[in-house]
Amino acid sequence: MSELWSWSAEELANAVRGRELSAAEVVGAAIERTQQVEPLLGAYLDRFEDEALERAADIDRRCAAGEDPGVLAGVPVALKDNLNLEGKPTTCGSKILEGYVSLYTATAVERLLDAGAVILGKTNLDEFAMGSSCENSAFHPTLNPWNRETVPGGSSGGSAAAVAGGSVPLALGSDTGGSIRQPAAFCGVVGLKPTYGRVSRYGLVAFASSLDQIGPVSRSTRDAALSLSVIAGADPRDATSSAEPVGDYLATLENGVEGLRAGIVEEVDTSSLEPGVKENWEQSLRTLQACGVEIERISLPHLPATIAVYYVIANSEASANLARFDGVRYGHRSEQAGGLMDLYLESREEGFGAEVKRRILLGTFALSSGYYDAYYGRARSVRTALRRQFQQALTEVDVILTPTCPSGAFGIGEKIDDPLSMYLSDIYTAPINLAGLPAVAVPSGLDSKGMPLSLQIVGRPFEEATVLRVARAFERENATSFCPPLGTVEGRGAAEAG
Ligand code: GLN
Repeated sequence: MSELWSWSAEELANAVRGRELSAAEVVGAAIERTQQVEPLLGAYLDRFEDEALERAADIDRRCAAGEDPGVLAGVPVALKDNLNLEGKPTTCGSKILEGYVSLYTATAVERLLDAGAVILGKTNLDEFAMGSSCENSAFHPTLNPWNRETVPGGSSGGSAAAVAGGSVPLALGSDTGGSIRQPAAFCGVVGLKPTYGRVSRYGLVAFASSLDQIGPVSRSTRDAALSLSVIAGADPRDATSSAEPVGDYLATLENGVEGLRAGIVEEVDTSSLEPGVKENWEQSLRTLQACGVEIERISLPHLPATIAVYYVIANSEASANLARFDGVRYGHRSEQAGGLMDLYLESREEGFGAEVKRRILLGTFALSSGYYDAYYGRARSVRTALRRQFQQALTEVDVILTPTCPSGAFGIGEKIDDPLSMYLSDIYTAPINLAGLPAVAVPSGLDSKGMPLSLQIVGRPFEEATVLRVARAFERENATSFCPPLGTVEGRGAAEAG
Protein backbone atom coordinates (compact mmCIF):
# COMPACT_ATOMS: atom_id res chain seq x y z
CA MET A 1 0.00 0.00 0.00
CA SER A 2 1.10 3.52 -0.67
CA GLU A 3 2.16 5.89 2.08
CA LEU A 4 -0.36 6.53 4.82
CA TRP A 5 -0.57 10.26 4.18
CA SER A 6 -2.08 9.56 0.77
CA TRP A 7 -4.93 7.41 2.12
CA SER A 8 -8.44 8.80 2.22
CA ALA A 9 -10.23 9.64 5.47
CA GLU A 10 -12.56 6.71 4.85
CA GLU A 11 -9.70 4.22 4.36
CA LEU A 12 -7.87 5.46 7.43
CA ALA A 13 -10.95 5.34 9.67
CA ASN A 14 -11.87 1.86 8.46
CA ALA A 15 -8.35 0.60 9.15
CA VAL A 16 -8.35 2.13 12.63
CA ARG A 17 -11.83 0.80 13.45
CA GLY A 18 -10.85 -2.63 12.10
CA ARG A 19 -7.66 -2.44 14.18
CA GLU A 20 -5.43 -2.95 11.15
CA LEU A 21 -3.76 0.35 11.93
CA SER A 22 -3.47 2.32 15.11
CA ALA A 23 -4.61 5.92 15.29
CA ALA A 24 -1.12 6.67 16.63
CA GLU A 25 0.43 5.39 13.37
CA VAL A 26 -2.04 7.37 11.27
CA VAL A 27 -1.54 10.61 13.17
CA GLY A 28 2.22 10.04 13.34
CA ALA A 29 2.35 9.71 9.56
CA ALA A 30 0.32 12.90 9.10
CA ILE A 31 2.63 14.79 11.43
CA GLU A 32 5.70 13.54 9.61
CA ARG A 33 4.28 14.49 6.22
CA THR A 34 3.21 17.88 7.54
CA GLN A 35 6.71 18.56 8.85
CA GLN A 36 8.05 17.85 5.36
CA VAL A 37 5.61 19.92 3.34
CA GLU A 38 4.69 22.74 5.68
CA PRO A 39 7.96 24.67 5.17
CA LEU A 40 7.15 24.62 1.44
CA LEU A 41 3.50 25.64 1.77
CA GLY A 42 2.75 27.65 4.88
CA ALA A 43 -0.72 26.12 5.09
CA TYR A 44 -1.04 26.36 8.88
CA LEU A 45 -1.26 29.11 11.46
CA ASP A 46 -1.07 26.71 14.40
CA ARG A 47 -0.41 22.98 14.87
CA PHE A 48 -1.19 20.74 17.81
CA GLU A 49 1.11 17.76 17.32
CA ASP A 50 1.44 16.64 20.93
CA GLU A 51 -2.25 16.89 21.64
CA ALA A 52 -3.02 15.09 18.39
CA LEU A 53 -0.79 12.20 19.43
CA GLU A 54 -2.39 12.09 22.89
CA ARG A 55 -5.82 12.01 21.35
CA ALA A 56 -4.73 9.26 18.95
CA ALA A 57 -3.51 7.19 21.91
CA ASP A 58 -6.88 7.71 23.55
CA ILE A 59 -8.67 6.51 20.41
CA ASP A 60 -6.45 3.42 20.35
CA ARG A 61 -7.32 2.69 23.98
CA ARG A 62 -11.01 2.96 23.17
CA CYS A 63 -10.61 0.61 20.19
CA ALA A 64 -8.71 -1.85 22.38
CA ALA A 65 -11.59 -1.73 24.88
CA GLY A 66 -14.01 -2.76 22.13
CA GLU A 67 -15.53 0.70 21.61
CA ASP A 68 -16.11 2.23 18.18
CA PRO A 69 -14.74 5.79 18.19
CA GLY A 70 -16.77 6.68 15.09
CA VAL A 71 -16.67 6.93 11.31
CA LEU A 72 -13.67 9.28 11.37
CA ALA A 73 -11.71 7.28 13.94
CA GLY A 74 -8.14 8.54 14.03
CA VAL A 75 -8.50 10.72 10.92
CA PRO A 76 -6.24 13.80 11.01
CA VAL A 77 -8.23 16.92 10.21
CA ALA A 78 -7.31 20.59 9.81
CA LEU A 79 -9.61 23.52 10.60
CA LYS A 80 -9.75 26.89 8.94
CA ASP A 81 -8.75 29.39 11.58
CA ASN A 82 -12.13 31.10 11.72
CA LEU A 83 -13.62 28.03 13.43
CA ASN A 84 -13.50 27.96 17.20
CA LEU A 85 -11.80 25.13 19.06
CA GLU A 86 -11.95 25.51 22.82
CA GLY A 87 -8.66 26.43 24.46
CA LYS A 88 -6.94 27.32 21.17
CA PRO A 89 -6.37 30.71 19.56
CA THR A 90 -8.73 31.69 16.73
CA THR A 91 -7.09 34.44 14.69
CA CYS A 92 -9.22 34.66 11.52
CA GLY A 93 -5.91 35.54 9.89
CA SER A 94 -6.11 38.94 11.61
CA LYS A 95 -3.95 40.89 14.01
CA ILE A 96 -7.07 42.21 15.69
CA LEU A 97 -7.70 38.83 17.35
CA GLU A 98 -4.20 38.74 18.80
CA GLY A 99 -4.19 36.80 22.06
CA TYR A 100 -7.81 35.62 21.73
CA VAL A 101 -8.37 32.04 22.89
CA SER A 102 -11.63 30.28 22.02
CA LEU A 103 -14.00 29.68 24.91
CA TYR A 104 -16.02 27.06 23.08
CA THR A 105 -15.93 24.69 20.11
CA ALA A 106 -17.88 25.15 16.88
CA THR A 107 -20.69 22.63 16.42
CA ALA A 108 -19.26 21.27 13.15
CA VAL A 109 -15.91 20.74 14.87
CA GLU A 110 -17.55 19.11 17.87
CA ARG A 111 -19.28 16.69 15.50
CA LEU A 112 -15.97 15.80 13.86
CA LEU A 113 -14.49 15.14 17.29
CA ASP A 114 -17.50 13.03 18.29
CA ALA A 115 -16.87 10.92 15.17
CA GLY A 116 -13.29 10.24 16.23
CA ALA A 117 -11.39 12.84 14.18
CA VAL A 118 -8.07 14.22 15.44
CA ILE A 119 -7.48 17.95 14.97
CA LEU A 120 -3.97 18.52 13.64
CA GLY A 121 -4.05 22.30 13.42
CA LYS A 122 -5.65 25.53 12.24
CA THR A 123 -5.13 26.67 8.67
CA ASN A 124 -4.33 29.99 7.07
CA LEU A 125 -6.96 32.19 5.46
CA ASP A 126 -7.51 35.62 4.03
CA GLU A 127 -8.22 37.93 6.94
CA PHE A 128 -11.80 37.31 8.14
CA ALA A 129 -12.28 35.10 5.04
CA MET A 130 -12.18 38.15 2.77
CA GLY A 131 -10.21 37.30 -0.32
CA SER A 132 -9.52 34.79 -3.05
CA SER A 133 -5.79 34.15 -2.70
CA CYS A 134 -4.79 33.78 0.96
CA GLU A 135 -2.56 36.82 0.44
CA ASN A 136 -4.74 38.87 2.78
CA SER A 137 -3.64 36.83 5.81
CA ALA A 138 -1.98 39.12 8.35
CA PHE A 139 0.61 36.40 9.05
CA HIS A 140 2.02 34.90 5.87
CA PRO A 141 0.81 33.79 2.45
CA THR A 142 0.12 30.12 1.67
CA LEU A 143 1.61 28.68 -1.51
CA ASN A 144 -0.07 26.37 -3.99
CA PRO A 145 1.34 22.79 -3.80
CA TRP A 146 1.11 22.51 -7.59
CA ASN A 147 3.32 25.51 -8.22
CA ARG A 148 4.62 27.57 -5.39
CA GLU A 149 4.77 30.71 -7.53
CA THR A 150 0.96 30.67 -7.55
CA VAL A 151 -1.72 31.26 -4.92
CA PRO A 152 -3.74 28.39 -3.41
CA GLY A 153 -6.95 30.43 -3.74
CA GLY A 154 -8.94 31.74 -0.85
CA SER A 155 -10.13 32.34 1.54
CA SER A 156 -9.79 28.70 2.72
CA GLY A 157 -6.42 28.46 0.95
CA GLY A 158 -4.66 26.92 3.95
CA SER A 159 -7.21 24.11 4.17
CA ALA A 160 -6.98 23.39 0.44
CA ALA A 161 -3.17 23.46 0.42
CA ALA A 162 -3.02 21.20 3.50
CA VAL A 163 -5.26 18.63 1.81
CA ALA A 164 -3.60 18.84 -1.61
CA GLY A 165 -0.13 18.75 -0.05
CA GLY A 166 -0.93 15.50 1.77
CA SER A 167 -0.82 16.88 5.30
CA VAL A 168 -4.40 15.78 6.07
CA PRO A 169 -7.05 13.95 4.02
CA LEU A 170 -9.78 16.27 5.25
CA ALA A 171 -10.15 19.88 6.33
CA LEU A 172 -13.00 22.24 7.08
CA GLY A 173 -13.39 25.55 5.34
CA SER A 174 -16.06 28.23 5.17
CA ASP A 175 -17.69 29.54 2.01
CA THR A 176 -19.39 32.93 1.75
CA GLY A 177 -18.89 33.55 -1.96
CA GLY A 178 -16.65 30.68 -3.03
CA SER A 179 -14.07 30.29 -0.29
CA ILE A 180 -14.25 26.49 -0.18
CA ARG A 181 -14.79 25.83 -3.88
CA GLN A 182 -12.30 28.27 -5.41
CA PRO A 183 -9.28 27.14 -3.34
CA ALA A 184 -10.32 23.51 -3.84
CA ALA A 185 -10.32 24.23 -7.59
CA PHE A 186 -6.91 25.93 -7.51
CA CYS A 187 -5.38 23.07 -5.50
CA GLY A 188 -6.95 20.17 -7.42
CA VAL A 189 -9.12 18.84 -4.59
CA VAL A 190 -12.84 18.47 -3.85
CA GLY A 191 -14.67 21.30 -2.07
CA LEU A 192 -18.29 21.20 -0.97
CA LYS A 193 -20.45 24.16 0.00
CA PRO A 194 -23.60 22.74 1.56
CA THR A 195 -27.06 24.32 1.33
CA TYR A 196 -27.40 27.39 3.55
CA GLY A 197 -28.52 26.00 6.91
CA ARG A 198 -27.33 22.43 6.27
CA VAL A 199 -24.38 22.80 8.64
CA SER A 200 -24.59 24.79 11.87
CA ARG A 201 -22.62 28.05 11.82
CA TYR A 202 -22.30 28.09 15.59
CA GLY A 203 -18.67 28.79 16.39
CA LEU A 204 -17.78 30.06 12.91
CA VAL A 205 -16.68 33.69 13.14
CA ALA A 206 -19.30 35.50 11.05
CA PHE A 207 -18.37 37.28 7.82
CA ALA A 208 -21.72 37.62 6.04
CA SER A 209 -24.30 35.73 8.05
CA SER A 210 -26.85 35.23 5.27
CA LEU A 211 -24.21 33.65 3.02
CA ASP A 212 -21.71 31.80 5.26
CA GLN A 213 -21.61 28.00 5.28
CA ILE A 214 -19.08 25.51 6.64
CA GLY A 215 -18.06 22.59 4.45
CA PRO A 216 -15.36 19.99 3.78
CA VAL A 217 -12.26 20.06 1.58
CA SER A 218 -11.04 16.57 0.70
CA ARG A 219 -9.19 14.61 -1.97
CA SER A 220 -12.22 12.56 -2.99
CA THR A 221 -15.98 12.88 -3.29
CA ARG A 222 -16.30 9.87 -0.96
CA ASP A 223 -14.61 11.78 1.84
CA ALA A 224 -16.74 14.85 1.11
CA ALA A 225 -19.88 12.69 1.40
CA LEU A 226 -18.68 10.94 4.54
CA SER A 227 -17.73 14.14 6.33
CA LEU A 228 -20.92 15.97 5.34
CA SER A 229 -22.97 13.22 6.99
CA VAL A 230 -20.98 13.88 10.16
CA ILE A 231 -21.14 17.68 10.32
CA ALA A 232 -24.64 18.34 8.92
CA GLY A 233 -27.85 18.68 10.87
CA ALA A 234 -29.97 20.88 13.10
CA ASP A 235 -28.36 22.66 16.02
CA PRO A 236 -30.33 24.52 18.70
CA ARG A 237 -27.41 26.98 18.91
CA ASP A 238 -27.87 28.18 15.32
CA ALA A 239 -31.43 29.28 14.53
CA THR A 240 -30.69 29.21 10.80
CA SER A 241 -29.64 25.56 10.85
CA SER A 242 -32.19 23.33 9.18
CA ALA A 243 -34.19 20.45 10.66
CA GLU A 244 -34.24 18.77 7.23
CA PRO A 245 -33.10 15.14 7.82
CA VAL A 246 -29.43 14.45 7.10
CA GLY A 247 -28.77 11.85 4.43
CA ASP A 248 -26.29 9.03 4.40
CA TYR A 249 -24.47 10.68 1.54
CA LEU A 250 -22.06 7.80 1.04
CA ALA A 251 -24.84 5.25 0.68
CA THR A 252 -26.19 6.76 -2.56
CA LEU A 253 -22.92 8.11 -3.91
CA GLU A 254 -22.17 5.34 -6.38
CA ASN A 255 -25.71 5.08 -7.78
CA GLY A 256 -24.88 6.61 -11.16
CA VAL A 257 -26.43 9.48 -13.05
CA GLU A 258 -28.17 7.89 -16.03
CA GLY A 259 -31.02 10.11 -17.24
CA LEU A 260 -30.23 13.01 -14.92
CA ARG A 261 -30.79 16.45 -16.45
CA ALA A 262 -28.05 19.06 -16.11
CA GLY A 263 -28.42 22.71 -17.08
CA ILE A 264 -25.75 24.91 -18.58
CA VAL A 265 -26.38 28.60 -18.19
CA GLU A 266 -27.01 30.89 -21.16
CA GLU A 267 -25.54 33.87 -19.26
CA VAL A 268 -22.26 32.12 -18.41
CA ASP A 269 -20.05 33.27 -21.26
CA THR A 270 -17.67 30.35 -21.68
CA SER A 271 -16.59 31.58 -25.12
CA SER A 272 -14.37 34.19 -23.46
CA LEU A 273 -12.54 31.66 -21.28
CA GLU A 274 -8.91 31.11 -22.15
CA PRO A 275 -8.56 28.22 -24.62
CA GLY A 276 -7.33 25.55 -22.15
CA VAL A 277 -10.12 26.32 -19.68
CA LYS A 278 -12.77 26.34 -22.40
CA GLU A 279 -11.60 23.01 -23.79
CA ASN A 280 -11.58 21.49 -20.34
CA TRP A 281 -15.11 22.74 -19.73
CA GLU A 282 -16.37 21.28 -23.00
CA GLN A 283 -14.58 18.02 -22.30
CA SER A 284 -16.19 17.91 -18.84
CA LEU A 285 -19.64 18.19 -20.41
CA ARG A 286 -18.84 15.35 -22.84
CA THR A 287 -17.64 13.23 -19.93
CA LEU A 288 -20.92 13.69 -18.09
CA GLN A 289 -22.90 13.02 -21.27
CA ALA A 290 -21.02 9.77 -21.62
CA CYS A 291 -22.19 8.92 -18.08
CA GLY A 292 -25.78 9.34 -19.23
CA VAL A 293 -26.42 12.95 -18.17
CA GLU A 294 -28.62 15.00 -20.49
CA ILE A 295 -27.36 18.54 -20.99
CA GLU A 296 -29.91 21.32 -21.47
CA ARG A 297 -29.68 25.09 -21.71
CA ILE A 298 -31.21 27.20 -18.96
CA SER A 299 -31.37 30.94 -18.38
CA LEU A 300 -30.59 32.96 -15.25
CA PRO A 301 -31.10 36.51 -16.51
CA HIS A 302 -29.83 38.23 -13.35
CA LEU A 303 -26.61 36.23 -13.16
CA PRO A 304 -24.42 38.98 -14.68
CA ALA A 305 -25.29 41.22 -11.68
CA THR A 306 -23.85 38.69 -9.24
CA ILE A 307 -20.54 40.29 -8.36
CA ALA A 308 -22.08 43.71 -7.75
CA VAL A 309 -24.88 42.25 -5.63
CA TYR A 310 -22.59 39.92 -3.70
CA TYR A 311 -20.13 42.65 -2.78
CA VAL A 312 -22.89 45.00 -1.57
CA ILE A 313 -24.58 42.32 0.55
CA ALA A 314 -21.44 40.60 1.85
CA ASN A 315 -19.74 43.89 2.75
CA SER A 316 -22.88 45.31 4.39
CA GLU A 317 -23.21 42.26 6.61
CA ALA A 318 -19.47 42.25 7.27
CA SER A 319 -19.50 45.88 8.39
CA ALA A 320 -22.12 44.98 11.00
CA ASN A 321 -20.49 41.70 12.06
CA LEU A 322 -17.02 43.21 12.43
CA ALA A 323 -18.26 46.06 14.61
CA ARG A 324 -17.68 43.80 17.63
CA PHE A 325 -13.90 43.97 17.27
CA ASP A 326 -13.30 47.11 19.27
CA GLY A 327 -10.26 46.36 21.42
CA VAL A 328 -12.34 46.30 24.60
CA ARG A 329 -13.22 42.73 25.53
CA TYR A 330 -10.62 40.73 23.67
CA GLY A 331 -8.05 40.91 20.89
CA HIS A 332 -5.70 43.70 19.98
CA ARG A 333 -5.97 46.91 22.03
CA SER A 334 -4.11 49.99 20.92
CA GLU A 335 -1.65 51.43 23.37
CA GLN A 336 -1.82 54.81 21.70
CA ALA A 337 -5.39 55.56 22.63
CA GLY A 338 -6.40 58.36 24.99
CA GLY A 339 -10.18 58.14 25.38
CA LEU A 340 -12.78 55.47 24.60
CA MET A 341 -13.53 56.61 21.05
CA ASP A 342 -9.82 56.77 20.37
CA LEU A 343 -9.44 53.27 21.73
CA TYR A 344 -12.01 51.93 19.25
CA LEU A 345 -10.54 53.85 16.34
CA GLU A 346 -6.90 53.12 17.01
CA SER A 347 -7.41 49.46 17.84
CA ARG A 348 -9.33 48.96 14.60
CA GLU A 349 -6.88 51.06 12.61
CA GLU A 350 -3.95 48.97 13.88
CA GLY A 351 -5.73 45.61 13.99
CA PHE A 352 -7.45 45.34 10.59
CA GLY A 353 -5.67 44.93 7.26
CA ALA A 354 -6.35 46.96 4.12
CA GLU A 355 -8.90 44.63 2.50
CA VAL A 356 -10.98 44.32 5.65
CA LYS A 357 -11.00 48.10 6.05
CA ARG A 358 -12.03 48.54 2.43
CA ARG A 359 -14.97 46.21 2.97
CA ILE A 360 -16.07 47.78 6.25
CA LEU A 361 -16.05 51.19 4.54
CA LEU A 362 -17.99 49.96 1.51
CA GLY A 363 -20.48 48.07 3.67
CA THR A 364 -21.02 50.96 6.06
CA PHE A 365 -21.61 53.24 3.10
CA ALA A 366 -24.11 50.86 1.49
CA LEU A 367 -26.09 50.68 4.75
CA SER A 368 -25.98 54.36 5.61
CA SER A 369 -29.06 56.50 5.66
CA GLY A 370 -29.79 58.01 2.28
CA TYR A 371 -27.93 55.21 0.45
CA TYR A 372 -29.53 52.14 2.00
CA ASP A 373 -32.33 51.85 -0.57
CA ALA A 374 -30.09 52.60 -3.51
CA TYR A 375 -27.46 49.99 -2.61
CA TYR A 376 -28.43 47.46 0.02
CA GLY A 377 -32.15 47.53 -0.78
CA ARG A 378 -31.57 47.12 -4.50
CA ALA A 379 -28.99 44.41 -4.04
CA ARG A 380 -31.49 42.51 -1.93
CA SER A 381 -34.21 42.72 -4.58
CA VAL A 382 -31.85 41.48 -7.27
CA ARG A 383 -30.79 38.66 -4.94
CA THR A 384 -34.45 37.64 -4.51
CA ALA A 385 -34.99 37.69 -8.26
CA LEU A 386 -31.85 35.63 -8.84
CA ARG A 387 -32.91 33.13 -6.21
CA ARG A 388 -36.28 32.71 -7.97
CA GLN A 389 -34.55 32.22 -11.30
CA PHE A 390 -32.45 29.45 -9.81
CA GLN A 391 -35.58 27.87 -8.29
CA GLN A 392 -37.33 27.96 -11.65
CA ALA A 393 -34.32 26.54 -13.49
CA LEU A 394 -34.04 23.74 -10.96
CA THR A 395 -37.58 22.62 -11.80
CA GLU A 396 -36.38 22.10 -15.38
CA VAL A 397 -33.08 20.39 -14.56
CA ASP A 398 -31.71 18.37 -11.63
CA VAL A 399 -28.36 20.13 -11.41
CA ILE A 400 -26.63 23.15 -12.93
CA LEU A 401 -23.05 23.02 -14.23
CA THR A 402 -20.45 25.78 -14.55
CA PRO A 403 -16.69 25.93 -14.44
CA THR A 404 -15.79 26.53 -10.76
CA CYS A 405 -13.49 29.44 -11.71
CA PRO A 406 -12.73 31.32 -14.90
CA SER A 407 -9.04 30.27 -14.72
CA GLY A 408 -6.54 28.08 -12.93
CA ALA A 409 -4.48 29.46 -10.03
CA PHE A 410 -2.98 32.88 -10.69
CA GLY A 411 0.47 34.11 -9.68
CA ILE A 412 1.36 35.42 -6.24
CA GLY A 413 1.05 39.20 -6.28
CA GLU A 414 -0.70 39.19 -9.66
CA LYS A 415 -4.09 40.47 -8.46
CA ILE A 416 -3.37 41.86 -5.03
CA ASP A 417 -3.41 45.48 -6.19
CA ASP A 418 -6.46 45.02 -8.36
CA PRO A 419 -9.41 44.15 -6.11
CA LEU A 420 -11.90 44.09 -8.97
CA SER A 421 -10.03 41.43 -10.87
CA MET A 422 -9.62 39.48 -7.61
CA TYR A 423 -13.37 39.75 -7.00
CA LEU A 424 -14.08 38.39 -10.47
CA SER A 425 -12.61 35.02 -9.57
CA ASP A 426 -15.88 34.44 -7.62
CA ILE A 427 -18.07 35.02 -10.64
CA TYR A 428 -19.37 31.43 -10.82
CA THR A 429 -19.32 30.61 -7.12
CA ALA A 430 -20.85 33.69 -5.44
CA PRO A 431 -24.30 33.39 -7.12
CA ILE A 432 -24.70 30.01 -5.45
CA ASN A 433 -24.31 31.59 -1.99
CA LEU A 434 -26.78 34.33 -2.92
CA ALA A 435 -29.28 31.58 -3.80
CA GLY A 436 -28.35 29.43 -0.77
CA LEU A 437 -27.82 26.29 -2.87
CA PRO A 438 -25.46 23.34 -2.41
CA ALA A 439 -22.51 23.05 -4.80
CA VAL A 440 -19.43 20.93 -5.15
CA ALA A 441 -16.18 21.73 -6.94
CA VAL A 442 -14.56 18.64 -8.42
CA PRO A 443 -11.19 18.44 -10.23
CA SER A 444 -11.60 18.32 -14.01
CA GLY A 445 -8.04 18.20 -15.33
CA LEU A 446 -5.14 20.57 -15.85
CA ASP A 447 -4.70 23.82 -17.79
CA SER A 448 -1.90 24.51 -20.26
CA LYS A 449 0.42 25.46 -17.39
CA GLY A 450 -0.23 22.20 -15.58
CA MET A 451 -2.49 23.77 -12.95
CA PRO A 452 -5.72 22.13 -11.80
CA LEU A 453 -9.13 23.10 -13.21
CA SER A 454 -12.49 22.30 -11.72
CA LEU A 455 -16.13 21.68 -12.52
CA GLN A 456 -18.89 23.12 -10.32
CA ILE A 457 -22.08 21.12 -9.81
CA VAL A 458 -25.00 22.98 -8.21
CA GLY A 459 -28.17 21.37 -6.89
CA ARG A 460 -31.57 22.02 -5.33
CA PRO A 461 -31.68 22.98 -1.66
CA PHE A 462 -30.74 20.01 0.55
CA GLU A 463 -30.02 17.79 -2.45
CA GLU A 464 -26.36 17.39 -1.57
CA ALA A 465 -26.77 13.69 -2.30
CA THR A 466 -27.47 14.49 -5.96
CA VAL A 467 -24.60 16.95 -6.48
CA LEU A 468 -22.20 14.53 -4.81
CA ARG A 469 -23.49 11.64 -6.94
CA VAL A 470 -22.84 13.62 -10.13
CA ALA A 471 -19.43 14.64 -8.84
CA ARG A 472 -18.63 11.01 -8.08
CA ALA A 473 -19.65 9.83 -11.56
CA PHE A 474 -17.48 12.57 -13.03
CA GLU A 475 -14.55 11.78 -10.75
CA ARG A 476 -14.71 8.10 -11.71
CA GLU A 477 -14.27 9.02 -15.39
CA ASN A 478 -11.49 11.49 -14.59
CA ALA A 479 -9.44 9.06 -12.55
CA THR A 480 -6.27 11.06 -12.97
CA SER A 481 -3.85 10.88 -10.11
CA PHE A 482 -4.23 14.38 -8.73
CA CYS A 483 -0.98 14.46 -6.89
CA PRO A 484 0.80 17.79 -6.95
CA PRO A 485 4.49 17.72 -7.91
CA LEU A 486 5.52 18.76 -4.41
CA GLY A 487 9.06 18.25 -3.32
CA THR A 488 10.35 18.29 -6.87
CA VAL A 489 9.92 22.04 -7.01
CA GLU A 490 12.93 24.00 -5.89
CA GLY A 491 12.31 27.54 -4.85
CA ARG A 492 11.55 29.84 -2.03
CA GLY A 493 9.77 28.59 1.06
CA ALA A 494 6.46 29.98 2.22
CA ALA A 495 8.05 31.96 5.00
CA GLU A 496 10.34 33.79 2.58
CA ALA A 497 7.61 34.50 0.06
CA GLY A 498 5.93 37.09 2.29
N1 GLN B 1 -13.55 35.60 -2.34
C1 GLN B 1 -14.82 36.02 -1.84
C2 GLN B 1 -14.67 37.27 -1.02
O1 GLN B 1 -13.60 37.77 -0.97
C3 GLN B 1 -15.46 34.92 -1.06
C4 GLN B 1 -14.93 34.80 0.31
C5 GLN B 1 -15.59 33.71 1.08
O2 GLN B 1 -16.31 32.88 0.53
N2 GLN B 1 -15.36 33.73 2.36
O3 GLN B 1 -15.58 37.76 -0.45
